[in-house]
Amino acid sequence: MALIVQKFGGSSVSDAEKIKHVAARILQTQAQGNDVCVVVSAMGDTTDDLVDLADSVSSKRDSREMDMLLTAGERISMSVLAMAIQEQGGKAKSFTGYQAGISTDSDHGSARIWKIEPVRIREALKAGEVAIVAGFQGFSFETGDVTTLGRGGSDTTAVALASALNADVCEIYSDVDGVYTADPRIVPRARKLAQIDIESMLELSSSGAKILYIRAVEFARRHGVPLRVRSTFSADSGTLVYTTKPGDEMEEPVVSGVTTDDTQSKITIIGLPDIPGKAAEVFQIVAEAGVNIDMIVQNSSSQDTQLSDISITLPHSERPKVVEALRSKQAEVGFEGVSYDDEIGKLSIVGAGMKTSSGVSAKLFGALARAGINIEMISTSEIRVSVITRASQLKDATRAVHTAFELDAADTAIIYAGTGR
Ligand code: ASP
Ligand code: MG
Repeated sequence: MALIVQKFGGSSVSDAEKIKHVAARILQTQAQGNDVCVVVSAMGDTTDDLVDLADSVSSKRDSREMDMLLTAGERISMSVLAMAIQEQGGKAKSFTGYQAGISTDSDHGSARIWKIEPVRIREALKAGEVAIVAGFQGFSFETGDVTTLGRGGSDTTAVALASALNADVCEIYSDVDGVYTADPRIVPRARKLAQIDIESMLELSSSGAKILYIRAVEFARRHGVPLRVRSTFSADSGTLVYTTKPGDEMEEPVVSGVTTDDTQSKITIIGLPDIPGKAAEVFQIVAEAGVNIDMIVQNSSSQDTQLSDISITLPHSERPKVVEALRSKQAEVGFEGVSYDDEIGKLSIVGAGMKTSSGVSAKLFGALARAGINIEMISTSEIRVSVITRASQLKDATRAVHTAFELDAADTAIIYAGTGR
């Protein structure tokens, strides 16, 4: 007998029919002899609709009230799902984040989980009930207020509960049947992966794959929670994201997947004196703006001017703030100017086998060259290589690279319509 945590995303519970389908699926899992704890997201686009509603009465989005409002979405789906299960002859009880024992800090809108004491969840499971927990919400004992973990936070709730309950597996259900080698909307010959190591999954999530939220993957890695990504609407076994290798004989693939990110901008600080301390001054300004940057590239300085350029990439939405902050300190730091470019795209290849395989970069750059695509910046980690290209060339680049690393499926059988949420 196993304990399984199942998380159903908004697209899986978007109307009454789908909720009944999910209820049946949960009861099936239970009938196979498992204890089942379920985490649900709000129905369909409910959370976005609630944000729009707030915007229509206020220009401020007061963070405490936003959390009170948004947590209502999950209360609807959890209670309706419990009733649907009861209607089908099962036993179920729903719980808010607070009732499930999820305590967080008081950072409204992006609270961090401090502790989970799922006393009532254990009681419910012991009584043979399906325990249904509202995703993405917690409670701050510091302030006595309801909090949210940030958009998409239900994945984190599920992983954290799986860890606290010592569950055998945490299954993440959406309308997509697993983790793919690339976004099938861009690469029609993308393949579903049967399994992937969690380090690679973390790199995929952080470089643009939307199937799992990065905070949830980080949590799963830290606490050794095995994940399975599955579709609510098929019997496919999905993709296993493992924390310990299922068999030693298995070799890690050199490249597991190709991801894209078109949400970044590039900023270049031009003509920075090439003397100790100047880079530190520049990044102090960026840090004070409270912005996380992704890539950094410094050109070597020219012989006669002793000036160099530094380029950084960061989310589009943060670009105006950082450009403004840099320009306001230009005279003080002594660089010549700041330019920016919003039309960039980032492509990354990820794979645990890269560590032991040489020539991966050569193959990547060769594929891009043959496709006539210019590389503007490069960054690497142990198991990832990322390049910046023109945004307009990103899709062509992705297809070329996917083919070069022999990731293409034999045919384009997959009809991809889902959102993965
Ligand atoms: N309902 C929340 C959102 O849409 C949380 C989630 O879906 O995971 O962001
Ligand atoms: Mg949602």
